[in-house]
Amino acid sequence: MRLATAEINLTALTHNLKKVRDFASNSKIMAVLKANAYGHGLVQIAQSLNEADAFAVARVDEALALRAGGLVKPIVLLEGFFDKTDLPILLANNFQTIVHNETQLEDIEQCDLGGQLTVWLKIDTGMHRLGIHPSQFINFYQRLSNNPNVNADIKLMTHFACADDLLNTMTQSQIAEFDACIKNMSEEVCLANSAGIVGWQQSHGDWVRPGLMIYGVSPMLEKTGNDHDLKPVMCLKTRLIAIKKIKAGESAGYGANWLTSKDTYIGIAAIGYGDGYPRHANTGTPVMINGRKVPLVGRVSMDMITVDLGDVLQDKVADEVILWGPELPVEIIAKHADTIPYELLCDITPRVDYKYV
Ligand code: PLP
Repeated sequence: MRLATAEINLTALTHNLKKVRDFASNSKIMAVLKANAYGHGLVQIAQSLNEADAFAVARVDEALALRAGGLVKPIVLLEGFFDKTDLPILLANNFQTIVHNETQLEDIEQCDLGGQLTVWLKIDTGMHRLGIHPSQFINFYQRLSNNPNVNADIKLMTHFACADDLLNTMTQSQIAEFDACIKNMSEEVCLANSAGIVGWQQSHGDWVRPGLMIYGVSPMLEKTGNDHDLKPVMCLKTRLIAIKKIKAGESAGYGANWLTSKDTYIGIAAIGYGDGYPRHANTGTPVMINGRKVPLVGRVSMDMITVDLGDVLQDKVADEVILWGPELPVEIIAKHADTIPYELLCDITPRVDYKYV
């Protein structure tokens, strides 16, 4: 029996997708499922997203896993393809590809596919990660339009760098750069990630690309999913496997660098960085046991954490321990671990048992 469990609430997932529709009611939804659906389980999550119009993943193997799982919706490859030998695979599986650089364009130009790929031309409007420079747009657009390997229905995309911060003017500049680049073209466009959907209504184009918010987590700084009526999909749990009393001045865990100031009970829970619980969660990170929050104390080990249960024993071995979930937002845990919720969700390791409810 495995104790560390990621309980995945599929009702919460469909609720969150409906919220995306409420935020961006005129846009089609491309649900972002890369990195094992942000650690939630690629195929299981996709199977529960009937209302999505398309799926988006980063890599070809993720897209192939969706097809192998029986998913038939359009799939967009957010990084495009890395090698021209992938092109026939894209065509055969009806994968839509981003084109973001000259090499990809040349690869498409130099092959004879015997069919037409659907292409999203990605424009770098300031993030300076993937995408062509706006000055290259006309050239790329015309070459793609004239290419027999490419479906005439070319679509246009950009990605935001700072949309999580409503006070940052960069998102507005990126939208303006995108609009200036495509002028009044009638092609379908897609700009908004979750933060764009929640915070920047003017960015809702023909399509939106939500990732984090469909998993019930806030994409905005200093917020939790609850602030936008999103419901956390993952609840990470384990159990207490030991309890011991220690005296004032004694320590718990590797390094012995946390000392209790009073006699207390220490609970040992079966989860650690080997399961994906963050090694850098600090002393004081909340953990829920029997409906109350208790602090993590001492260092996170590979298989275990130690928590301060207090000086009056209320808990027993085998009691449930919640690391994050509806009552303990992963956004809060990420802050205590000096990271972002994306990383915590993606880092769940195969050692953790998944239960879909
Ligand atoms: N679009 C692209 C290109 C991305 O890389 C990502 C995720 O990193 C998303 C959309 C989804 O972003 P989010 O999870 O913030 O909604």
